[in-house]
This record gives sequence, structure tokens and C-alpha cells, in this order.
Amino acid sequence: MRHRFSALGRVARRFPRAHLILSGALIATVSLVAMVPESGESRSERVQTLTLPKHDAGDQLAGLESSRHQQAQPAAPTASVPTLASQPQERWQRLTVKPGDTLSGLLQEHGVTATQVYRLINGHPRLKELTNIRPGESFQISLDSGGELNALRYHPSRIETVEAELDGERWQVAAHTREYLRRTRFADGTIDNSLFLAGHAAGMSDNLTMQLANIFGWDVDFVQDIRQGDRFRVLYEELYLDGEKVGEGNILAAEFWNRGRHLTAYRFQTRSGDTEYLDADGNSMRKAFIRTPVSFTRISSRFNLGRKHPILNRVRAHRGIDYAARSGTPIKAAGNGKVIFAGVKGGYGNVVIIQHGQQYTTLYGHMKGFAKGIRVGSRVNQNQTIGYVGMTGLATGPHLHYEFRVNGTHRDPLTVPLPKARGVDANEKPQFLVQAKRMQSQITMFAEAATLASSNVF
Ligand SMILES: [Zn+2]
Repeated sequence: MRHRFSALGRVARRFPRAHLILSGALIATVSLVAMVPESGESRSERVQTLTLPKHDAGDQLAGLESSRHQQAQPAAPTASVPTLASQPQERWQRLTVKPGDTLSGLLQEHGVTATQVYRLINGHPRLKELTNIRPGESFQISLDSGGELNALRYHPSRIETVEAELDGERWQVAAHTREYLRRTRFADGTIDNSLFLAGHAAGMSDNLTMQLANIFGWDVDFVQDIRQGDRFRVLYEELYLDGEKVGEGNILAAEFWNRGRHLTAYRFQTRSGDTEYLDADGNSMRKAFIRTPVSFTRISSRFNLGRKHPILNRVRAHRGIDYAARSGTPIKAAGNGKVIFAGVKGGYGNVVIIQHGQQYTTLYGHMKGFAKGIRVGSRVNQNQTIGYVGMTGLATGPHLHYEFRVNGTHRDPLTVPLPKARGVDANEKPQFLVQAKRMQSQITMFAEAATLASSNVF
């Protein structure tokens, strides 16, 4: 429990001594709540809510492993690295790379032949990595009585150890990864100017603030939508090795108040191993897209970069899909987002462009007119009618011209992989709701402790 004390202790230290007693009482409460399993729940379930799922591709610190027990353990290697028993300790030599050294040169200085070096680095992909070793880094080698290289070990990162041993002609390689100690931290802030400045003021790194912006990026435009007085609360992990902070892990839960809207997000790992941020009801924070933004329709022209334009009568890439439909047929927003353009744009005629999250935009052209309330800055929900099929601009008949862009690049709306946003499966929802509730009460208690510690009421 020491880490939770220190997490709040850090908060408490910022405030006058007179408040420490009260803070202490609250800290104890937080610790106790986190420690005592609620009735009917096993301890391992509880621990799991405080730890992180296994690493996913989005992790800032790739290769992180986590275990459900790590909170209770010191930051020691979980798999003890076996000493190669066949090698007496004194045979190990540590080699440190100096500027200008090559792996081959360095090994040869220590009596390893060029042939042996060649066999070593081609003996296993993990041994090939050794050729990337940089000045200041070191590794250990062991030579047998005949001066032949027969074992080697190095640390590709602070948490990894690679051990290699020559077994006859072949190099056998074992890799071990030790765990970070993860501490749950809390930060809150009110935005005066920008999210990043508020993040800094709250003691958050830019990495953490980016995570926060990405989680809520489908609902909040952090450039346009932010108002003075918007605020946030974040529960996140700090990572430690050997008692030293080495970085941040993931945001576990976050709340955001934006212009009167209150958004919440909880990190959840499904049984299949996917991690996702979900709202309090278990819906994904990332929003899905519908493939076809207009019903009762047929495709009249596909995505085709070499199409001959029917009016211009020359080759002009068709970077979208045309859906022929009766004039006046409602056009739906393909996903939740914000209108960033609504007006006339050359050959497109009446156009609406919607921004979805940070990466995606959709465009709807040749509209007869816009739906009520659709203007730059309007927020739209998936399936909401944004306008009506028409033939404004360069069009031979009524149709919707629909484009889908990912990071500014046109993609075929029919084949582009769309972000999955299923939310939690029904059979995992009860577990999610329990976890979300716990994370929420942790946030609330951290927040109350910080507020009380900073108020002058007592
Ligand atoms: Zn078109």
C-alpha cells in the first residue's frame, strides 16, 4: 500500500502542514477502500482492476508486461535470470562500447575470432540486435578454456535480459522480461488556456496529456471546443524500476467537463485481450462509421482514380462513391463528429464535411440543401440527417458524392478499414461495470482528498 500513500502524500506535501492530519485520514480511507475486497469478490479480481492489461500496440512503452500481482510486489525481476551454471562466474567479462567501436572489433579485441562473431550474430535474431549496440551500453561475454566465445548476455532495455549460450554448434537464446512496478496516480486540472498548459500545471507529462486528448478526441475538438473553465480528472499509472520512476503507463480512467458536457472513460481489457476506453455504459469512446450514408440507393460510380468524368469528359480521379437516389432523400452523418464545412465548394455544389475524431473526415457533395442546424461547428451524431440528395455543382443527375479521408488521404469508403467500436460484449459487461465503478470511486476519493487538502475550511 505504500505507493498509494506516496501518491496522495505528494498531493498533501503541496499544502500546509495543518491540513496533513486531515489528508492523512483521507489517505487511509482511500487505501482501505482499495485494499478490502467488496463482499463476494475475490482478491484476484480486485487486484486486476488496479493493474493494466497486457501491452497493446498503442502503448507508449512498447513491450510492457503486466501481471495481476505486480502491485503487491517490489520491482524485482519476476523471472530470476538463471546464471549459466556451466560457466564459473570469473569467466564473465563485461564489455562496454566506446564511440567508434564495432561489435566485431570489440569482440575481436577480447580474443573472439571473426568467424565466431559471424556465427554469433547470425545464430539468432535476438543476437543480430547486438550489432545495434550503442556507445555507453555494455554486455557480458564468457570464453571457455580454449578462448572460444560460449556465452553472452545483454540488456536490450532496462526490463529485458537476453542470455545466449553456445550448445555445440548452435546458439540457444533465452529472453526474460521483468515487470514495472505500477503506481496509481491522480491528476486534475482546470483549463485556462490550453489543455497542454493545464496538463503541465497538473504535473502531467505531454505523453499523458496526449493520451487524454486521444481518449476524448471523438467527442471534443481540443483546438476549437475548449473553453476556459473546462476541467478534467485523470487516474493513471506511473512506472517504476528499482525504486526509480521511469515513465508513465496508461490512463486508467478519466473525466472531462467541456462546455457543460460531462464525459467519462474507463480503460477495459476484454477477455480476448483487446483494450478499449469505454464510457460508463460500456460504449466505446471511439465511434463507429456506417458504410452507406444514404438509404434507398444504388451505387452509380465507384472509387476510381482513372475515371473519365461524365461532364468534363476527361480523366479525373473519382475519389469517392456516388450513390444515386431520388432528389430530397435524406443524407445521414456516417459517424459522430463535428461539421467543419457547410457551404458551396466548386464542382461539389453544396457540401458538408464532418470531422470524426483526430484522423477521419467525411464529405457529402451535390446536396440539394442542408438539414436544419447544420453549420460549421455543429456537432452531429451518427445517422443524423445532415442534408438532402440533390444535383448541385457538377452532376448529371441527383446523387450523393461521398468521400472518406484518413489523415487527409482519400480512401475508398467501401473498403477502408473502419475503426471497430463495438463497446463491451454483453457477457463481459457486468465485470466492466464493477471495474468502472471502482475506478470512479478511486477518482472521487483522490479528488476529494486533494480538494480538502487545499481548502482552508479546516
Ligand atoms: Zn462522385
